[in-house]
Amino acid sequence: MSLETGLSGKVAIVTGGARGIGRAIVETLAREGVTVNFFYKGNVEAALAVEQACQAFSGQAHAMQVDVTDPAACARAVEDVYDRCERIDVLVNNAGIVRDNLLAIMEDDEISSVLQTNLGGVFNTVRPVIPFMMSQRAGRIINLSSVAGVKGGRGQANYAASKGAVDALTRALAVELSSRRILVNAVAPGVIETEMSQQVRDLADDEVKSRILLKRYGQAQEVANAVTFLASDLATYITGQILYVDGGFKMA
Ligand code: NAD
Repeated sequence: MSLETGLSGKVAIVTGGARGIGRAIVETLAREGVTVNFFYKGNVEAALAVEQACQAFSGQAHAMQVDVTDPAACARAVEDVYDRCERIDVLVNNAGIVRDNLLAIMEDDEISSVLQTNLGGVFNTVRPVIPFMMSQRAGRIINLSSVAGVKGGRGQANYAASKGAVDALTRALAVELSSRRILVNAVAPGVIETEMSQQVRDLADDEVKSRILLKRYGQAQEVANAVTFLASDLATYITGQILYVDGGFKMA
Protein backbone atom coordinates (compact mmCIF):
# COMPACT_ATOMS: atom_id res chain seq x y z
CA MET A 1 0.00 0.00 0.00
CA SER A 2 1.37 3.45 -0.87
CA LEU A 3 0.46 6.40 1.31
CA GLU A 4 -1.22 9.27 -0.55
CA THR A 5 -1.42 12.64 1.18
CA GLY A 6 -4.18 13.88 -1.15
CA LEU A 7 -2.74 17.37 -0.80
CA SER A 8 -2.02 18.09 -4.46
CA GLY A 9 -4.21 20.96 -5.71
CA LYS A 10 -5.19 22.10 -2.21
CA VAL A 11 -4.91 25.72 -1.05
CA ALA A 12 -3.28 26.67 2.25
CA ILE A 13 -2.55 29.72 4.37
CA VAL A 14 0.50 29.54 6.66
CA THR A 15 1.28 32.42 9.05
CA GLY A 16 4.86 33.41 9.89
CA GLY A 17 6.14 31.50 6.87
CA ALA A 18 9.36 33.37 6.12
CA ARG A 19 11.66 31.48 8.47
CA GLY A 20 12.06 28.66 10.97
CA ILE A 21 9.28 26.12 11.35
CA GLY A 22 6.90 28.21 9.20
CA ARG A 23 9.30 28.14 6.28
CA ALA A 24 9.68 24.36 6.55
CA ILE A 25 5.88 24.02 6.57
CA VAL A 26 5.51 26.24 3.49
CA GLU A 27 8.14 24.30 1.55
CA THR A 28 6.86 20.88 2.60
CA LEU A 29 3.25 21.67 1.66
CA ALA A 30 4.41 23.20 -1.63
CA ARG A 31 6.36 20.01 -2.43
CA GLU A 32 3.11 18.10 -1.93
CA GLY A 33 1.49 20.25 -4.63
CA VAL A 34 -0.33 22.65 -2.32
CA THR A 35 -0.73 26.30 -3.37
CA VAL A 36 0.66 27.95 -0.25
CA ASN A 37 -0.13 31.55 0.68
CA PHE A 38 2.13 32.54 3.52
CA PHE A 39 1.96 35.58 5.77
CA TYR A 40 5.16 37.28 6.88
CA LYS A 41 5.55 40.24 9.22
CA GLY A 42 8.28 42.41 7.74
CA ASN A 43 11.32 40.65 6.29
CA VAL A 44 10.70 40.99 2.55
CA GLU A 45 14.04 39.41 1.59
CA ALA A 46 13.38 36.31 3.67
CA ALA A 47 9.89 36.01 2.21
CA LEU A 48 11.19 36.30 -1.36
CA ALA A 49 13.81 33.66 -0.59
CA VAL A 50 11.05 31.24 0.43
CA GLU A 51 9.11 31.97 -2.78
CA GLN A 52 12.26 31.35 -4.83
CA ALA A 53 13.11 28.15 -2.98
CA CYS A 54 9.64 26.84 -3.86
CA GLN A 55 9.91 27.99 -7.48
CA ALA A 56 13.09 25.92 -7.75
CA PHE A 57 11.02 22.74 -7.44
CA SER A 58 8.01 24.23 -9.30
CA GLY A 59 6.15 24.71 -6.01
CA GLN A 60 3.48 27.39 -5.63
CA ALA A 61 4.20 29.77 -2.74
CA HIS A 62 2.83 33.29 -2.52
CA ALA A 63 4.18 35.71 0.11
CA MET A 64 1.80 38.22 1.71
CA GLN A 65 2.90 40.87 4.20
CA VAL A 66 0.35 40.43 6.99
CA ASP A 67 0.82 41.08 10.69
CA VAL A 68 -1.34 38.52 12.51
CA THR A 69 -2.01 40.94 15.37
CA ASP A 70 -4.02 43.13 12.94
CA PRO A 71 -7.51 41.62 12.58
CA ALA A 72 -8.51 43.82 9.62
CA ALA A 73 -5.33 42.96 7.72
CA CYS A 74 -5.91 39.23 8.36
CA ALA A 75 -9.51 39.46 7.14
CA ARG A 76 -8.45 41.30 3.97
CA ALA A 77 -5.69 38.79 3.28
CA VAL A 78 -8.01 35.81 3.74
CA GLU A 79 -10.52 37.39 1.30
CA ASP A 80 -7.70 37.97 -1.15
CA VAL A 81 -6.59 34.32 -0.96
CA TYR A 82 -10.15 33.15 -1.57
CA ASP A 83 -10.59 35.57 -4.51
CA ARG A 84 -7.40 34.31 -6.16
CA CYS A 85 -7.55 30.61 -5.28
CA GLU A 86 -11.33 30.04 -4.96
CA ARG A 87 -10.97 27.88 -1.88
CA ILE A 88 -9.08 27.57 1.40
CA ASP A 89 -8.42 24.01 2.50
CA VAL A 90 -5.76 24.38 5.18
CA LEU A 91 -4.91 27.09 7.71
CA VAL A 92 -1.69 26.74 9.68
CA ASN A 93 -1.32 29.22 12.55
CA ASN A 94 2.43 29.19 13.01
CA ALA A 95 3.38 32.83 13.73
CA GLY A 96 4.61 33.21 17.29
CA ILE A 97 7.01 35.09 19.53
CA VAL A 98 8.74 34.65 22.90
CA ARG A 99 9.52 37.42 25.40
CA ASP A 100 10.95 35.49 28.35
CA ASN A 101 11.26 37.19 31.72
CA LEU A 102 10.45 36.49 35.34
CA LEU A 103 6.84 37.47 35.91
CA ALA A 104 7.57 39.82 38.82
CA ILE A 105 9.64 42.06 36.55
CA MET A 106 7.85 41.39 33.28
CA GLU A 107 6.84 44.52 31.35
CA ASP A 108 3.22 45.02 30.29
CA ASP A 109 4.33 44.85 26.66
CA GLU A 110 6.05 41.50 27.21
CA ILE A 111 2.72 40.09 28.33
CA SER A 112 0.44 41.80 25.81
CA SER A 113 2.62 41.28 22.73
CA VAL A 114 2.97 37.54 23.38
CA LEU A 115 -0.76 37.09 23.99
CA GLN A 116 -1.70 39.28 21.02
CA THR A 117 0.57 37.39 18.64
CA ASN A 118 0.37 33.78 19.84
CA LEU A 119 -3.31 33.74 20.81
CA GLY A 120 -4.84 36.86 19.22
CA GLY A 121 -3.17 35.96 15.93
CA VAL A 122 -4.99 32.62 15.88
CA PHE A 123 -8.37 34.28 16.47
CA ASN A 124 -7.60 36.86 13.77
CA THR A 125 -7.00 34.29 11.05
CA VAL A 126 -9.44 31.61 12.12
CA ARG A 127 -12.48 33.91 12.22
CA PRO A 128 -12.35 35.05 8.57
CA VAL A 129 -11.36 31.55 7.33
CA ILE A 130 -14.23 29.69 9.05
CA PRO A 131 -17.06 30.89 6.74
CA PHE A 132 -15.16 29.69 3.66
CA MET A 133 -14.38 26.30 5.17
CA MET A 134 -17.98 25.98 6.41
CA SER A 135 -19.39 26.56 2.95
CA GLN A 136 -16.91 24.00 1.54
CA ARG A 137 -17.92 21.61 4.34
CA ALA A 138 -14.27 20.70 4.65
CA GLY A 139 -11.11 22.16 6.08
CA ARG A 140 -8.11 21.67 8.32
CA ILE A 141 -6.93 24.11 10.95
CA ILE A 142 -3.58 23.38 12.56
CA ASN A 143 -2.27 25.57 15.36
CA LEU A 144 1.34 25.65 16.52
CA SER A 145 1.27 25.18 20.25
CA SER A 146 4.24 24.25 22.46
CA VAL A 147 5.19 21.84 25.22
CA ALA A 148 5.24 25.02 27.33
CA GLY A 149 1.43 24.95 27.24
CA VAL A 150 1.47 21.99 29.63
CA LYS A 151 5.01 21.89 31.03
CA GLY A 152 5.81 25.31 32.40
CA GLY A 153 9.30 26.76 32.28
CA ARG A 154 10.90 29.55 34.34
CA GLY A 155 10.47 32.96 32.75
CA GLN A 156 7.81 31.74 30.36
CA ALA A 157 4.56 32.62 32.15
CA ASN A 158 3.40 34.79 29.24
CA TYR A 159 4.35 32.26 26.57
CA ALA A 160 3.02 29.25 28.53
CA ALA A 161 -0.31 31.04 29.08
CA SER A 162 -0.58 31.85 25.37
CA LYS A 163 0.11 28.26 24.30
CA GLY A 164 -2.15 26.72 26.96
CA ALA A 165 -4.88 28.97 25.58
CA VAL A 166 -4.10 27.80 22.03
CA ASP A 167 -4.62 24.20 23.22
CA ALA A 168 -7.98 25.12 24.75
CA LEU A 169 -9.01 27.06 21.65
CA THR A 170 -8.03 24.09 19.47
CA ARG A 171 -10.27 21.69 21.41
CA ALA A 172 -13.21 24.15 21.57
CA LEU A 173 -13.01 24.84 17.83
CA ALA A 174 -12.83 21.13 17.05
CA VAL A 175 -16.18 20.73 18.83
CA GLU A 176 -17.72 23.80 17.20
CA LEU A 177 -16.68 22.95 13.64
CA SER A 178 -16.98 19.16 13.57
CA SER A 179 -20.45 19.17 11.99
CA ARG A 180 -18.99 20.99 8.97
CA ARG A 181 -16.18 18.45 8.67
CA ILE A 182 -13.52 20.97 9.66
CA LEU A 183 -10.81 19.22 11.65
CA VAL A 184 -8.88 21.28 14.17
CA ASN A 185 -5.65 20.10 15.78
CA ALA A 186 -2.46 21.49 17.25
CA VAL A 187 1.18 20.51 16.91
CA ALA A 188 3.21 21.16 20.06
CA PRO A 189 6.97 21.23 19.44
CA GLY A 190 9.61 20.81 22.12
CA VAL A 191 12.95 22.56 21.57
CA ILE A 192 13.46 23.00 17.85
CA GLU A 193 16.62 24.44 16.27
CA THR A 194 15.34 27.82 15.08
CA GLU A 195 16.11 31.42 15.93
CA MET A 196 13.32 31.39 18.53
CA SER A 197 15.06 28.83 20.73
CA GLN A 198 18.61 30.14 20.18
CA GLN A 199 18.86 31.92 23.52
CA VAL A 200 17.67 28.93 25.55
CA ARG A 201 20.01 26.58 23.67
CA ASP A 202 22.96 28.94 24.20
CA LEU A 203 22.28 29.41 27.91
CA ALA A 204 21.53 25.86 28.99
CA ASP A 205 22.49 23.48 26.19
CA ASP A 206 23.48 20.42 28.28
CA GLU A 207 20.71 20.89 30.84
CA VAL A 208 18.02 21.16 28.16
CA LYS A 209 19.31 18.17 26.18
CA SER A 210 19.49 16.09 29.36
CA ARG A 211 15.73 16.58 29.72
CA ILE A 212 14.94 15.26 26.22
CA LEU A 213 14.61 11.47 25.86
CA LEU A 214 16.16 11.57 22.38
CA LYS A 215 19.08 13.75 23.67
CA ARG A 216 18.94 16.17 20.76
CA TYR A 217 16.97 19.18 19.56
CA GLY A 218 14.30 18.82 16.91
CA GLN A 219 14.52 20.15 13.38
CA ALA A 220 11.96 22.43 11.75
CA GLN A 221 11.38 19.74 9.14
CA GLU A 222 10.31 17.27 11.81
CA VAL A 223 7.59 19.68 12.92
CA ALA A 224 6.59 20.40 9.31
CA ASN A 225 6.17 16.65 8.75
CA ALA A 226 3.62 16.46 11.59
CA VAL A 227 1.74 19.50 10.30
CA THR A 228 1.66 18.03 6.79
CA PHE A 229 0.33 14.74 8.15
CA LEU A 230 -2.51 16.53 9.98
CA ALA A 231 -3.34 18.50 6.81
CA SER A 232 -3.42 15.35 4.70
CA ASP A 233 -5.78 12.51 3.82
CA LEU A 234 -3.76 10.38 6.27
CA ALA A 235 -5.42 12.21 9.17
CA THR A 236 -9.14 12.14 8.32
CA TYR A 237 -10.18 10.79 11.75
CA ILE A 238 -8.17 13.07 14.01
CA THR A 239 -9.60 16.24 15.55
CA GLY A 240 -9.25 18.16 18.81
CA GLN A 241 -5.79 16.67 19.44
CA ILE A 242 -2.44 18.10 20.48
CA LEU A 243 0.36 16.23 18.73
CA TYR A 244 3.67 16.56 20.60
CA VAL A 245 6.79 16.71 18.47
CA ASP A 246 9.28 17.02 21.29
CA GLY A 247 11.58 13.99 21.38
CA GLY A 248 10.17 13.18 24.82
CA PHE A 249 10.85 16.57 26.43
CA LYS A 250 10.79 16.65 30.25
CA MET A 251 10.21 12.88 30.34
CA ALA A 252 13.89 12.15 30.80
P1 NAD B 1 10.80 31.86 14.63
O1 NAD B 1 10.97 32.99 15.56
O2 NAD B 1 11.98 31.34 13.91
O3 NAD B 1 9.68 32.21 13.53
C1 NAD B 1 8.46 32.77 13.90
C2 NAD B 1 7.88 33.45 12.68
O4 NAD B 1 6.67 34.10 13.07
C3 NAD B 1 8.81 34.53 12.11
O5 NAD B 1 8.86 34.41 10.71
C4 NAD B 1 8.13 35.81 12.53
O6 NAD B 1 8.37 36.90 11.66
C5 NAD B 1 6.67 35.38 12.50
N1 NAD B 1 5.85 36.31 13.25
C6 NAD B 1 6.03 36.73 14.53
N2 NAD B 1 5.11 37.66 14.84
C7 NAD B 1 4.33 37.80 13.74
C8 NAD B 1 3.23 38.62 13.43
N3 NAD B 1 2.73 39.48 14.34
N4 NAD B 1 2.66 38.51 12.20
C9 NAD B 1 3.15 37.65 11.29
N5 NAD B 1 4.23 36.87 11.51
C10 NAD B 1 4.81 36.95 12.72
O7 NAD B 1 10.08 30.73 15.47
P2 NAD B 1 9.84 29.17 15.18
O8 NAD B 1 10.73 28.42 16.05
O9 NAD B 1 9.86 28.90 13.72
O10 NAD B 1 8.35 29.02 15.78
C11 NAD B 1 7.20 28.76 14.99
C12 NAD B 1 6.06 28.39 15.92
O11 NAD B 1 6.43 27.22 16.65
C13 NAD B 1 5.72 29.46 16.95
O12 NAD B 1 4.33 29.52 17.14
C14 NAD B 1 6.40 28.97 18.20
O13 NAD B 1 5.79 29.44 19.38
C15 NAD B 1 6.26 27.46 18.04
N6 NAD B 1 7.26 26.71 18.81
C16 NAD B 1 8.60 26.81 18.55
C17 NAD B 1 9.51 26.09 19.33
C18 NAD B 1 11.00 26.13 19.10
O14 NAD B 1 11.74 25.54 19.88
N7 NAD B 1 11.51 26.77 18.07
C19 NAD B 1 9.05 25.30 20.37
C20 NAD B 1 7.68 25.22 20.63
C21 NAD B 1 6.80 25.94 19.83
